Amino acid sequence: MPELPEVETSVRGISSLSGEKIQQIKVHIPKLRWPIKENDFLDLEDRKIVSIYRRAKYIIFNCEEKFLVLHLGMTGTLRIIPTKSNEYKKHDHVELIFKKNKLIFNDPRRFGSIHITNNINEHFLIKNLGVEPLDEVFNEDYLYTKIKKSNASIKSLIMNQKIVVGIGNIYANEVLFLSRINPRKKGKYITRKNASEITKHSKSILRKAINAGGTTLQDFFSPSGNKGYFKVDLNVYDREGEKCFDCSNLIKRIEQNQRSTFLCRNCQS
Ligand SMILES: [Zn+2]
Repeated sequence: MPELPEVETSVRGISSLSGEKIQQIKVHIPKLRWPIKENDFLDLEDRKIVSIYRRAKYIIFNCEEKFLVLHLGMTGTLRIIPTKSNEYKKHDHVELIFKKNKLIFNDPRRFGSIHITNNINEHFLIKNLGVEPLDEVFNEDYLYTKIKKSNASIKSLIMNQKIVVGIGNIYANEVLFLSRINPRKKGKYITRKNASEITKHSKSILRKAINAGGTTLQDFFSPSGNKGYFKVDLNVYDREGEKCFDCSNLIKRIEQNQRSTFLCRNCQS
């Protein structure tokens, strides 16, 4: 599933479309996680894309007072091809056609989504989202205050999209290893220093992945490209039974909220 760094990279990869006018829209397969409302969609024709940005894992196209909100789901990808090209692929759902190029949304498993809205900040997918992990507001004070009374585990808290967006299972495991914190530790026992470590490592790991994404951008858009995670060095994730790089203890796997958690019991307390 595309994570925040992949979505950020997708946004950067299509940023050349800002300023372009949408000449035509074609909906080939309206069935997505929510069916596409074709009429809303056609309202975007003749509008200019003012900007394209990311919020959590949503790609938002600001089209002069109207917003297109796109989620890549599990298997969604975007590609740009010349407008005159007739190269189509199975599972191409929607085309936004510009003068020189067209943007195609392909999604074999159909967990992706597209919505059109007039008020982006009040949209049901957007309005309850927590802060962005790379923004300054995600800092020691913010995290400490949000979780200091919580009985939930720190891992579930940093994966809670109402607190902070875009930290998926792999990144949560890695952040807590780098922060030397046991993923089962309750929010109320997290110290200010812990909160500081968590915010620092969240930012650094996501930035690293985004930078890695920049170098593989070509692949990400190519038909044969690898749609998996950008390569970041994994210290614990999927390393059950292997030696911790820091202390040589064996990495353990446990389950939390039906998700795998990997940790070094010696390094993380
Ligand atoms: Zn260790």
